[in-house]
This record gives sequence, C-alpha cells and structure tokens, in this order.
Amino acid sequence: MTASPGISEVWFLTGSQGLYGEDTLRQVADQSRSIAEALDTAGLPVRVVWQPVLTDAGAIRQVCLEANASPACAGVIAWMHTFSPAKMWIAGLDALRKPLLHLHTQANRDLPWESIDMDFMNLNQAAHGDREFGYIQSRLGVPRKTVAGHVTDPSVAARVGAWARAGLGLAAMRSMRLVRFGDNMRDVAVTEGDKVEAQLRFGVSVNTYGVNDLVTVVDDVPDADISELVKEYADSYTMAPELLGERQESLRYAARIELGLRRFLDQGGYTAFTTNFEDLGGLRQLPGLAVQRLMADGYGFGGEGDWKTSVLLRTLKAMAPGGGTSFMEDYTYDLTPGDERILGAHMLEVCPSIAAGVPSCEIHPLGIGGREDPVRLVFDAAPGPAIVAGLADLGDRFRIVANEIDVVPPSRPLPRLPVARAVWRPRPDFRTSAESWLTAGAPHHTVLSSAVGAEELSDLADMLGVELLIIDANTTTRQFTKEIRWNQAYYRLAQGL
Ligand code: MN
Repeated sequence: MTASPGISEVWFLTGSQGLYGEDTLRQVADQSRSIAEALDTAGLPVRVVWQPVLTDAGAIRQVCLEANASPACAGVIAWMHTFSPAKMWIAGLDALRKPLLHLHTQANRDLPWESIDMDFMNLNQAAHGDREFGYIQSRLGVPRKTVAGHVTDPSVAARVGAWARAGLGLAAMRSMRLVRFGDNMRDVAVTEGDKVEAQLRFGVSVNTYGVNDLVTVVDDVPDADISELVKEYADSYTMAPELLGERQESLRYAARIELGLRRFLDQGGYTAFTTNFEDLGGLRQLPGLAVQRLMADGYGFGGEGDWKTSVLLRTLKAMAPGGGTSFMEDYTYDLTPGDERILGAHMLEVCPSIAAGVPSCEIHPLGIGGREDPVRLVFDAAPGPAIVAGLADLGDRFRIVANEIDVVPPSRPLPRLPVARAVWRPRPDFRTSAESWLTAGAPHHTVLSSAVGAEELSDLADMLGVELLIIDANTTTRQFTKEIRWNQAYYRLAQGL
C-alpha cells in the first residue's frame, strides 16, 4: 500500500493577460512550461502538470473546478508571470477546494543589465503580478502556502515538495476508512474523541466492529497460507530458535492473525485500524507482529483503541511512503542531568520501518491482556533527526503538537527489554520539551517519523485548518505558553459565531 491510489500530480497554473499581445503570451507559455518542467524533475513526490496560460476569469474558474474534480490532482500551484489583474481570480479561488501553493518566481534568475528594455520589463513582472495575487488571496481568506525564489534554488523545490507531501497526506485523510476492533481503553481520556468532527474536519470515517468479527476471518485462514508467511518471516528477520522449534505453533498463530487482519482491512477498504488489549474476544494473542508488519506496509495503527493516533500515522505514512514512521509512546526517561533522554516504545507495536538493523522475531510473556504469549519484532530505532507528533481533541477543536527530536542509540544494550524501542533527545532540551508538551495537553501516544518534518506537518495543518504547535530548537516555555493562549482565542474566533 503506497500513498493514496490515483493521486499522482499537482497542476501548474500561470496567470497573465492579453494586454501585451500574442507574442508575449507565447513567451509566457514557453517560460512557464520550463518552470513547471524544472519543478517536475526536481524530485517532488508527484508530477507537475503544466496547464495553458490563463488570461480571463472564465478559464480560471473552469480550471479550478477541473482541479476539484480530478482524482489525480493533489493541489494547484499558481504563478503570475505577467501582471494578472486579480479580480479575474475571485471566482476561481472561491471555487477551489484543492490545496493551493503560490509560487513567487520569475523565468530569469539574473537581470540582463546590458540589454534590459521595456519589453523585458513587461514580460517579467511577477514582482508585482504576484503582489496583486497575494492581495486577492488575503482579501478572500484563501489558505495557501507561499514560496518565493528562483526554481534553481534547491530550497524552492524542497518547500514545494513539502507542500506536495502534505497534499498527499490530505488526500489520504479524505479517503481514509478506519476500523476499530472494540472501543478505546476503559477510563482513558486522551484516546477519546469526536468521530463526527473527525469526518467533517479530516474526511476520515471511523467505525467499530466487534473483535470477534475479526476472529471469524482469522480462524478461516488456510494453513497453506500460514506456512508460506512463516517462511517469509524466517527470510526477513533474525528468528528466536524456539519460534522455529518448540514454539512454532505460536508463530503460526501470529501469522494467522496477520493474514486475517490483512484480509479484513483489504475487504473493507480500511487503511487504518486500532486494537485494544482489554477486548480480544477469541484472539489467542494480542496482535503484535501482525500490527508491526501492517504498519510497515503503510497502514495506520493506534493501541488501546486510539483511533486519532492511527489516523495521524496513516496520514504521515501516505506523505512519505518509503517508511521511517511508526506508532510510538513516551514510556520512561533517563534523567541524567544535561543528557536527559526519552525511551519510547509500546507493549509490542512499533513499526519495523524505523529499525536500525534487522529486527529480531521473539516471543515473551505479556503481563496484560490475559492471553497467550505474543510474538513480536524487537529492535532499536535508527539514529537521526525526527519528529514526534500527537493529535488531541480539546472538546471544541483538534490540536496537533509536534516536537523535533534526535533519535540516538541506546547508551547500552537492553538485553532484558523484550520490545522494540527508540531513544531520543527532545529539542531544545528535556525540560522545555516536556513542560511545553504537558502545557499543550498533548497525548502520550504519538507518531514518530524521520521521513516527515515540521514543514510538511505545518503545511498539512494549514490545509486542514487545524491547530499545530511545534516544539523545536527555538522554543521557550514562556513563549510557547503565550502561543497556546493566543491560539485559544484565535481558534475560537476562527470557528465563527
Ligand atoms: Mn499505549
């Protein structure tokens, strides 16, 4: 499973006008096509599709409606090559429902100081054409990302790429179907949430099945399929010898869960799910290995019925389908002064796409759930920069909080810890990070990703109109607390009366 099926492009719209004649418009077409091609070959996660130059309100509205209707189109890039009187854009921008990026660039990088004349000036006037466009977007209150610079500047393509990835995330949300096997964990607050609001705000449908509906599918898995999958395990992981010997029945049952879960999800068109150890029905093991491998294939997951984290995980996986993103939970700390680190893990369910090496497939007892010992993959997360992000429901709105972190190797081996884990230093430091996180009321379940950064998350939050608070190297608790207070007012006003 990759991003969202069918979503594969963004459209490149060029604004101009008829005032300077056909010759100028031909040049505008040639130059805007070159810029679209330069972006298209700059490593974006989608194709950049050039559209014919726009010179009147009817054509602008028409292309915006076509973008809305196109299942392939993740968003629209707009650039005013020449002056494009912006009243022409009112109806189109008002109709546009796809994400918008305003690219402020020009065809030439350097001014031709020796040869510049008024023809050149009239052709290359994005400097004020885009200001006119900026005005009308602000006047209409159109959400958009603005990127300024020449396309040969790598940061321009990188910032457009972040926006395009956010567009992939948005598209994944708009088509997401999430199945919960049972409700969320009893008495837990932060895993609750408004599922109607989630469908309205994100487009995600969240529905529950009794876990025994899954058990029926699990029990029906043919033995031959199980044997084949067990071979795949042996080829992919370092196997604990007992799983291939005296405890091979446990491994076969773990494979049965995986095949059944996969079938249930695929038949229902679900791209995200939750489980709850309190509600396992006829399942003989808490799904561990199965959940880990489904996450690695791009499915969203949340433990203890946490559907909001499952939504966020699936979304980030669609934004960066190559892996490096997992369900995570802040578990415990090393509070060595000046070298504080967070040890994140879960009972079983950490995605092997963040592993530093080949995971080891093991079986150990599990104190909760009251079932047979579950099979799981054990590994350390790969070191490097990453983020953790959590989604909370504040009652009147959703809030995403993200912290930039640096995943580090564990100080020593962890021979007695039978679960996958990540160790990280939060930015800017433990105290600021933890105090800010707690002040924001952010959750203990998160998504950890080395593949999606703060810019992508920020673009996504803007597309969704959802609050995002970022804790990074520049955060101070005082400023962060003020930001929360200001947001409290802003988001209540932004909801309207
Ligand atoms: Mn948990």
